[in-house]
Amino acid sequence: HSDATHLAAGTTPLSAPNDLDAFWMPYSANRAFKAEPRMITGAKDNHYFTPDGRSILDGTAGLWCCNAGHCRTPVVEAIQTQAASLDFAPTFQFGHPIAFEVASRIASEAPEGLDHVFFANSGSEGVDTALKIALAYHKVKGQGGRTRLIGRERGYHGSGFGGISVGGIVNNRRFYGGLLGGVDHLPHTYNRAEQAFTKGEPEWGAHLADDLENIVALHGADTVAAVIVEPMAGSTGVLPPPKGYLKRLREITSKHGILLIFDEVISAFGRLGTAFAAQRYGVTPDMIVFAKGITSGTVPMGGVIASADIYNGFMDSAGEGMIELFHGYTYSGHPLACAAALATLNVYRDEGLYENAAKLEGMFADAAHSYLADLDIVEDIRTCGIVTGVDITPLEGKPTARAFAAMQDAFYNQDMMIRVTGDTIALSPPLTFAESDVDQMFAGLKRTLQAVS
Ligand code: PLP
Repeated sequence: HSDATHLAAGTTPLSAPNDLDAFWMPYSANRAFKAEPRMITGAKDNHYFTPDGRSILDGTAGLWCCNAGHCRTPVVEAIQTQAASLDFAPTFQFGHPIAFEVASRIASEAPEGLDHVFFANSGSEGVDTALKIALAYHKVKGQGGRTRLIGRERGYHGSGFGGISVGGIVNNRRFYGGLLGGVDHLPHTYNRAEQAFTKGEPEWGAHLADDLENIVALHGADTVAAVIVEPMAGSTGVLPPPKGYLKRLREITSKHGILLIFDEVISAFGRLGTAFAAQRYGVTPDMIVFAKGITSGTVPMGGVIASADIYNGFMDSAGEGMIELFHGYTYSGHPLACAAALATLNVYRDEGLYENAAKLEGMFADAAHSYLADLDIVEDIRTCGIVTGVDITPLEGKPTARAFAAMQDAFYNQDMMIRVTGDTIALSPPLTFAESDVDQMFAGLKRTLQAVS
């Protein structure tokens, strides 16, 4: 038995450790967790397992990443086989075949014209990579004055200095000094008065893209390198783009020679019913950042898909035999991550999981609204693809406390994992969910919200 099959039977989960002190947990209330740990010791398909033998419905695909579900046999076997045959090989000045194969495969799923893949190991590194490519691209094209980067309020682009600089989450920025200079932020696209309880993309808000014209007018187009946005802002509460908003951003960036970067770390690989959100919205950026779903969370991997124009700009710029881009990571295109990615993309294709997400979307949105919309503490519900954000009324004077209580209640009393971000509950299950799982998830969330009301 592999551990996965052993645990899948739900028989003897790994025991939990006694000493929780040494691990400084990321983006976590360490003291609260360590006082009452929500420990996970196994997983299979749409469920996690706890040390006390409970089966937990995974309403969040881990951290928005396990799109194919957990411990899927073809992915597990591909990683095992790869680990035993080629554990590591450098991709600086050497190559191994599977990295080229995965890059071609990703490019083949991407919008036309996005043909070249640079590998990193996470979304944060992917974001840094895209920002650096944007700056270097203008430099090699003789426009080195284009150094300004534009992000968006309520944007999340990971935890690197580049990502927190273009990102728009105050708590992620305020401890870390001046950050990158020359960064502006577009307004976020959420307006409850205009958009509350919308299913899918709201009608109101496309005009907010026009703010980019103001920023460009203020600084001069020849100082602006790139605009980076999440097509659907996930981590800051699930904000689907207003209808027409991304098209408008594309028009303005193209008009001024500014690169448009979509951070699709959450939205890629089926989350919105298409390989990339770019395809759902019919808007092709110059670069797409991906991570998470590429390996269904099994092995860390991220990266950037760049347009032929960008890639060729670099290839044409450097002398023969010279390095064209001074950037990379020891583990760019790591063999284990590549094996996991290829097997994962095959699962998505063979099981029609992007299509399943598209098919589920209507039922998913209907279930979210019919179970939750009438509850007193529910202030808004947003849905898009198979993602939902549910805003709940905070307890007076104690922001986030009720959402945290909901996460605890869901885990202990409803046997399900939900994610909370501020006073929003975010659900983003594996694309392998059936309608009955969706129903069970929203029914469970309803009971939880009643319990914390
Ligand atoms: N960009 C977006 C849009 C994300 O949602 C995330 C993670 O949630 C990241 C970047 C950062 O990815 P990672 O945590 O893999 O560095």
